Amino acid sequence: MQFSSVDELQKKLRNRELKSTDLVRESLATITKQEAHFKTSITVLKDQALEQAQVIDTALDKGDDLPALAGIPIGIKDNICIKNTQTTCGSRFLEPYTSPYNATVITKLQKNKGVCVSKLNLDEFAMGSSTENSAFFTTPNPWNTECVSGGSSGGSAAAVAAGQVPISLGSDTGGSIRQPAAFCGVSGLKPTYGRVSRYGLVAFASSLDQIGPFARSVKDLAYVLEAICGHDVNDATSSQAPIQEWVNSLATPPKKFKIALPKQLIGETIDEDVKHCVLQAVDTFKNQGAVIEEVDMPSLEASIATYYIIAPAEASANLARFDGVRYGRREHADTLKDMMIKSRSEGFGPEVQRRILLGTFVLSAGYYDAYYLKAQKARTYIKNDFSRIFADYDLIMSPTTPSVAFKKGEKSNPLDMYRCDLATIPANMAGLPALSIPCGFSKGLPVGLQLIAKAFDETSVLQAGHLYQQLTHFHKEIPNGV
Ligand code: GLN
Repeated sequence: MQFSSVDELQKKLRNRELKSTDLVRESLATITKQEAHFKTSITVLKDQALEQAQVIDTALDKGDDLPALAGIPIGIKDNICIKNTQTTCGSRFLEPYTSPYNATVITKLQKNKGVCVSKLNLDEFAMGSSTENSAFFTTPNPWNTECVSGGSSGGSAAAVAAGQVPISLGSDTGGSIRQPAAFCGVSGLKPTYGRVSRYGLVAFASSLDQIGPFARSVKDLAYVLEAICGHDVNDATSSQAPIQEWVNSLATPPKKFKIALPKQLIGETIDEDVKHCVLQAVDTFKNQGAVIEEVDMPSLEASIATYYIIAPAEASANLARFDGVRYGRREHADTLKDMMIKSRSEGFGPEVQRRILLGTFVLSAGYYDAYYLKAQKARTYIKNDFSRIFADYDLIMSPTTPSVAFKKGEKSNPLDMYRCDLATIPANMAGLPALSIPCGFSKGLPVGLQLIAKAFDETSVLQAGHLYQQLTHFHKEIPNGV
């Protein structure tokens, strides 16, 4: 089964054709039914979800005017804290950890009366591109279970694609919302850095991390963005920028966009089939009066190398808190040092250990200038390249990923995995809003189209994405057996 759009669900809930408890039961039943073949959830929040739905139904019965997301089931990536609920981050280290507080996005969803039903699978501490780094299980791709769902928010993307929830939240540090959205044929938005509070998101790389939504349509993403964004006193990097009426902005026909197509993201590193779908999308936009031109952005060639210095550096500092004393796992040993070594060696998987080692190395006194400092300069170079392009263009368009979803186990060499992030990392480097929407199929697997805009111009990516979805059917396609 697939859920209807937020508009449709809202209407049916308001005129009592549907109850929130029915929706939540439907969602829980689908999660259980699919457990064997599309496993997405680390924890299912059955009792609390049904309890919340009951309260919302009572309010709706009384005729209360409730917010747009009221009564709608939502899945949450398991690196976002929900009070009194296990938050594993896909790691053995945090398996025993129960969060004592709500992330700001959860508080905001609760204010909007959304119902959290599941904590979704991810690569351990959001490090990866396939959920194969989850300590618990790999989430298969609902379009082809031999393939990966992408990562790190693979559980969040697959849960929407498989019809378990109409909406989910993920986090994106180098592409972890957009890449799995592309692989699973759903829409995913990484908002501008600072647009959404990171309070209660377990930090991976703090200068890059951003929470954002998954849904089938761009309009549904707009509903969630309105609900979760805004300044937060608990996150000093959260922005004071005013919350916009993104849903309403979709009703007005957008201006004729001027769009840049960086040649570095449409070259020989991109599969022919993917390129073909993106070039067809270019034609769709051109037919709507958009001006699309190929541009040169040489800095993009440096983005993978830059990211894989900065992200591990920040991760090595952020993950230092997992010492066996304060959070999660503790292995017993005779000395404090041995306890820490044992807890961290057994609690963290190989990719997390690799990143900690890499990050510690690039920050060490002898190598700081050669690697970390140089990477920071390269980051500025990438940012400046974007500013130059955005002086002349409204949007940048590219494929979201160089290929469609790959087979499980296919990218066993970490460098092959890192190369998948070519098109998504640059937006994190520059803190820009970026959207992935379905734009076609190759060998039965979905292809993603990426749209990037200036900082805080979510309106342009959402309007362009919505326009495209008015003209195409790709976001409405659903996997067999769902
Ligand atoms: N694939 C990238 C990585 O492994 C991005 C992860 C993310 O965005 N959280 O770091």
